[in-house]
Amino acid sequence: MSEEVFRIVIDPKDHRDLPRAVITDCPSHLMTKTGSWRTLRPIVDLEECIKCGICWKFCPDVSIEVKEEGAVVDYDYCKGCGICAKECPVNAIDMKKEADYV
Ligand code: SF4
Ligand code: SF4
Repeated sequence: MSEEVFRIVIDPKDHRDLPRAVITDCPSHLMTKTGSWRTLRPIVDLEECIKCGICWKFCPDVSIEVKEEGAVVDYDYCKGCGICAKECPVNAIDMKKEADYV
């Protein structure tokens, strides 16, 4: 085994020594809408929203966008975890039963 191969495979010094991965397909979130998993639906009160962007920052599914009118949820991908409602500093997001909206 050459010294170079040994360094990369056996004794990497840091992440730069690790092999690079190639992603050949488009991101899975574009192919699989995960909103159907939701049992609770975040409802934003746009009158209360101060457009701080904290919900956008914490949403694990990147399902919130802060627009001119306030925080807007993308229900195609929101899984209903409720983190946004928990983190909103002005309690502008309520988690409601999904069954009431379908
Ligand atoms: S409920 Fe969860 S997944 Fe849905 S918008 Fe809020 S943080 Fe994102
Ligand atoms: S965290 Fe609350 S106040 Fe801030 S942008 Fe989101 S909904 Fe609006």
